[in-house]
Amino acid sequence: MADGQGHSIQDVRTHCGLPQTRRVVLARAAQATAGVLALGWASRAPASAEPPSLPQGTWDAHVHLTGTGGTVEQRVDFLLEHASRLGIERLVAFMGTRFVEDPSPDELRRQNDEVLRAIAHAPDRILGMVYVNPKYVEASLREMDRCAGHGPMVGVKLWIAMRCARPELDPIVRRAVELKLPLLQHAYDRVMGNLPGESSCADVAALAARHPDASFICAHTGNDWERGIRMIRATKNVYAEVCGSDPTAGFVEMAVRELGAERVIYGSDAGVRGFASQLAKVLSAELPEAARRLILGDNLRRLLAPRLAAVQKR
Ligand SMILES: [Zn+2]
Repeated sequence: MADGQGHSIQDVRTHCGLPQTRRVVLARAAQATAGVLALGWASRAPASAEPPSLPQGTWDAHVHLTGTGGTVEQRVDFLLEHASRLGIERLVAFMGTRFVEDPSPDELRRQNDEVLRAIAHAPDRILGMVYVNPKYVEASLREMDRCAGHGPMVGVKLWIAMRCARPELDPIVRRAVELKLPLLQHAYDRVMGNLPGESSCADVAALAARHPDASFICAHTGNDWERGIRMIRATKNVYAEVCGSDPTAGFVEMAVRELGAERVIYGSDAGVRGFASQLAKVLSAELPEAARRLILGDNLRRLLAPRLAAVQKR
């Protein structure tokens, strides 16, 4: 995605934690999108068929304010302009205008304030999740109370500061249950070994098994999704979220086959990734239309409904 504002090439940090230039990220996204269309939908569809369009009520579970430029409000406008072209109605945003892997309490507050600004700028289309760091449990609980308990946010975002199977996560999960917030945890399973503090899908499953009353969105489903789907399969309160990896064919089909369509959620990782390349995973999958609607919005709405109802009552 280009921001159209003449920003120079800048370093962006992908979820694998490796700096890349924006140009490299864009080139890879474009290649990947072309690949999935060639290998997925296009190869199976008659030449005259139109690609499937998005159902009404498509929501994106995983969006950042990074990867674009300008003020928070300009970034939101940019993201929404591109989401609108594709028919995506709402975006769930978390973390601020830069990626900080191990944020201090002050940095958490700054980043969450930026998301609050994003929500205030487009309250009908931007939802937010509160970014927390289990190394600072008390500060994290305060942020959850401030941004969700008393604010408009509807979930909790956990990244790579600490592996989520550790006991420090327990009070954060208990507070999330009290506040009716699903938890979205980054999860990678790298062939060469994970980053320090980076959770595997097995970590997400272990945490979720200790908290059967909480709901966990397993962001990226490990990137190595053939292993990740298996790791979360037996833990029914874990949802596979499909964002961020290259749009290879077969990811969504396998997730639906192994977990059921009601446990699979679309997200993009925009603006680090483009919306289109990640939507292609769902649109190119051979699925009944009802399953596609679950993945593109119904499942996320069901998870967010209790908190959204509380926010709307205020
Ligand atoms: Zn992300």
